[in-house]
Amino acid sequence: MSLTLHVAGDRWRAHLRSVAERHPGLVPVCKGNGYGLGLARLARKAQWLGVDAVAVGTYAEVGEIATRFDGSMVVLTPWRPFGPALDVTDDDALADRIVHTVSRVEDLDALLARRPDARFVLERLTSMQRHGLAARELWAAARALHEHPRARLEGVAMHLPLAQGSHLSQMQRLMTDVVGAELPEGPGARTVWVSHLTDAELETLRGEYPDFVLRPRIGTALWLGDREALTVTATVLDVHAVERGDAFGYRGRTAPKAGHLLVVSGGTAHGIGLEAPTGELDLRGRAGTLARGGLDALGFVRSPFSIDGKQRLFAEPPHMQASMLFVPAGARVPAVGERIDVRVRFTTTRVDAVEID
Ligand SMILES: *Cc1c(COP(=O)(O)O)cnc(C)c1O
Repeated sequence: MSLTLHVAGDRWRAHLRSVAERHPGLVPVCKGNGYGLGLARLARKAQWLGVDAVAVGTYAEVGEIATRFDGSMVVLTPWRPFGPALDVTDDDALADRIVHTVSRVEDLDALLARRPDARFVLERLTSMQRHGLAARELWAAARALHEHPRARLEGVAMHLPLAQGSHLSQMQRLMTDVVGAELPEGPGARTVWVSHLTDAELETLRGEYPDFVLRPRIGTALWLGDREALTVTATVLDVHAVERGDAFGYRGRTAPKAGHLLVVSGGTAHGIGLEAPTGELDLRGRAGTLARGGLDALGFVRSPFSIDGKQRLFAEPPHMQASMLFVPAGARVPAVGERIDVRVRFTTTRVDAVEID
């Protein structure tokens, strides 16, 4: 009765292992909806992989990970002197396992005032311009740290954009800042946590900075990197034959021609949207999608559901937990109970069940 994510277990686990083997120092990213697989499952898999650290998105996510993974948890959302960061900072049971991200000099002072032996990374601002210290601020933080002998610096973190050309020249500039910062001696002064570098870029940088340990944070390419191992299906819940002109749905719209209405599991609460995921990220691409084929000749919108390999149309906008599809006369009509394929964007989909075989 559900929107179900099927995982080809052996294949998926083999992929996870191979990513871990190819990425020494791997930091699996466990955040959000758990990349469609759920945070708890990712935490258990990180434990199974045997990594010493994972990255979680927010302080609110720490609890769900902490009971299933027993290593360190780097919180990607930078520490601020307010909100749930403070509860986690004050939790003595977690203190040795949490690695805070510090992205402002004043937050370093505030964090260390609260917990003088806090573990943390200093985030360096990148071309992402999301969070982080500018070069001068990194140097100021390094100077401040010399006054805090108990502080546990775990490294410098950098969040790079999704690859648009090479990251190498930017990384080389950022590494120069790290070298020049004169961070207090220790492994933290020579550890850099990075995202979105290609394997070749990592290898090049390791060659250029042999004294440094590079720790790649990987989410999508780890958990979702072998798409063939993951399929999502919906269940056909009801089928109604309609003639041209028959009214249906919340809005009493009439069928433009004869066919069948299919009620299938999966609606807005699962993240099923009106627009089928296209993989086109930019606005121009999206506008193009709508203009090209958003509406078909019958005035229906393409859905992410497909039957016998053919993408079907929404008969009306998705409901909260189900969707109505239109199957024109002549096409095979699936039976109630049959499972049909759904193309989803994993990071925005909440499935009802995950089946691993
Ligand atoms: C989400 C995130 C990642 C992982 O990104 P993927 O594209 O899923 O691999 C790495 N670093 C930071 C800071 C992030 O927010």
